[in-house]
Amino acid sequence: MAREHGDSWDLASSVGATATMVATGRAIASTHEHGLIDDPFAAPLVRAVGIEAFTKMVDGELDLAALEAFAPDVAARARANIDEMAVRTRFFDDYFAAAADSGIRQAVILASGLDSRAYRLPWPHGTVVYEIDQPEVIEFKTQTLAGLGAVPTAERRTVPIDLREDWPTALRQNGFDPSLPTAWLAEGLLIYLPPEAQDRLFDTIHDLSAPGSAVATEFVPELKDFDADRARDAAAGFQQLGLNMDMPSLVYHGERHSAADYLAAKGWQTTGIGRADLHTLHGLTAAVLADDPMREIIYISGTLG
Ligand code: SAM
Repeated sequence: MAREHGDSWDLASSVGATATMVATGRAIASTHEHGLIDDPFAAPLVRAVGIEAFTKMVDGELDLAALEAFAPDVAARARANIDEMAVRTRFFDDYFAAAADSGIRQAVILASGLDSRAYRLPWPHGTVVYEIDQPEVIEFKTQTLAGLGAVPTAERRTVPIDLREDWPTALRQNGFDPSLPTAWLAEGLLIYLPPEAQDRLFDTIHDLSAPGSAVATEFVPELKDFDADRARDAAAGFQQLGLNMDMPSLVYHGERHSAADYLAAKGWQTTGIGRADLHTLHGLTAAVLADDPMREIIYISGTLG
């Protein structure tokens, strides 16, 4: 179903299911011998959502090596996605570590989905982590992790609201202090926002950021030339796994500002690294995704002087 203004979801439907998809990647990447990431909450969260194909993947019942034999394309893509989640998660984990080292004690995770950083990163004492996502998503993760006995490693404050609504007011009402430097994260979010909403997001982040703040996100330059049919073809193999997510209908395409340029124009010092270089940095080789609009991803971080 196509996106529409004010659409909503849980973790098994529409955009919500993409949070379960990336958590599946994190769960599997956490078992990999490269040791790049360790997210012990990803697998139980995925199981709790209950999308059968993802549960089978985290439980090893859907074995990629076995899949290789009859659907090599699907297996290769699944492996590429898992490696991507390893380097992406590591990039943003390192970003928060650097922000903490610089003295930042307030973090905002936008579109937090099944991100468990508020429970697994070694936040310095006194850090407050805000998580913003749709109400059903926030509630599900909070309840599931509480049921597992997980305890946040920072003061976690949830802001259950759609990012197309007045989230800055909701954030402030939960205690957010714009006079303090903040580390912002928009991971796995921009492609699900219309271009003008992406600009508004960065305008708002800028307006709420005290000097010394930091921001991180990832940007897909080729969304401007997004061809939904081609993307559908590229992802068709996943239906063999019993997954009927239609990613192309969830993504907003068309011309949009480069996130790094947009932030730089507002005075942020930004740096970016492409997915191939990020893989190389961590001793991995990025799969060549010739027919995939996501073949280039720029991981960006920046600070406000
Ligand atoms: N950042 C998380 C991660 O990387 O694991 C989740 C990424 S997931 C691909 C996309 C997330 O964006 C989902 O959790 C979804 O609910 C959230 N999202 C997308 N559009 C949103 C909106 N308009 N308001 C609130 N959350 C939104």
